[in-house]
Amino acid sequence: MTYRGRFAPSPTGPLHFGSLVSALASWLDARAHRGAWLVRIEDIDGPRTVPGAAEDILTTLERFGLHADEPPVWQSQRMARYQQALEQLQATCLVYPCGCTRKEIADSLLHAHARNTTLAYPGTCRTGLHGKPARAWRLRVPDGDAAVITFDDRWQGPQTQNLAAEVGDFVLRRADDQWAYQLAVVVDDADAGITHIVRGADLMDSTARQIYLQRCLGVATPEYLHVPVVTNEHGEKLSKQNGATALDCDKPLDALGAAALHLGLDLGSEPPATLENFYSAATAAWAKLMKIRAS
Ligand code: GLU
Repeated sequence: MTYRGRFAPSPTGPLHFGSLVSALASWLDARAHRGAWLVRIEDIDGPRTVPGAAEDILTTLERFGLHADEPPVWQSQRMARYQQALEQLQATCLVYPCGCTRKEIADSLLHAHARNTTLAYPGTCRTGLHGKPARAWRLRVPDGDAAVITFDDRWQGPQTQNLAAEVGDFVLRRADDQWAYQLAVVVDDADAGITHIVRGADLMDSTARQIYLQRCLGVATPEYLHVPVVTNEHGEKLSKQNGATALDCDKPLDALGAAALHLGLDLGSEPPATLENFYSAATAAWAKLMKIRAS
């Protein structure tokens, strides 16, 4: 198998320290495996995309020495592929149109919560639209044992999620006419031949959905590794939304050193003086850490 990894930032603002940690971890894992590292700009969420942010992220990655092995892929240019994937699922009746509004779902979940039952989408439109206009497309998740998805995360260990109980039938095409992240990410990773996904642990909860969707589409499931997320002083995940500042491109070694520390990489007592020294020490330290974690 030829290793192919990727970093998939959403251009909702400049690259910040939290996303640098994911970028670095995915880059190091690819290098430690002598594999390829790709970048995909996840710009399908029109309302959240900030003009110019993607170009800014790509420039910052370059300035930090994180060079991709192939030209970047832009999700906004791949809409036809998402449509094809939806049509493939429509042909096998694995998806259905949903007419529920957010309020209707929230109300029924509140009701379910009061009865102390499931908080997953209740499947209202599984049996038809009940006279409502179609708003979104949902993927039907299996019932019974088949709903339980397990995977072995290379950092976090064995994981289990019951899709029926914890998620419910999930959205692939949103009511606002946007493709859902879950569909785009699975189609893109499969088309790019991604074998290893390394990303932040905030996406752990999406992984079972993505594995199930891979099975529905008949594509391979990659290996997963979710690194600990960076939090702010309130314990919230660092994000562009809660004020994470852009990285200083003039001092890449400072931020890279801090990112390596966050990942628990031991780079020795002398801080590397050049980007080249940093990456060779960090790649060796990553390989060592992975060996320890796997044993
Ligand atoms: N675009 C997502 C983000 O920036 C990452 C998606 C992924 O790595 O699967 O959080």
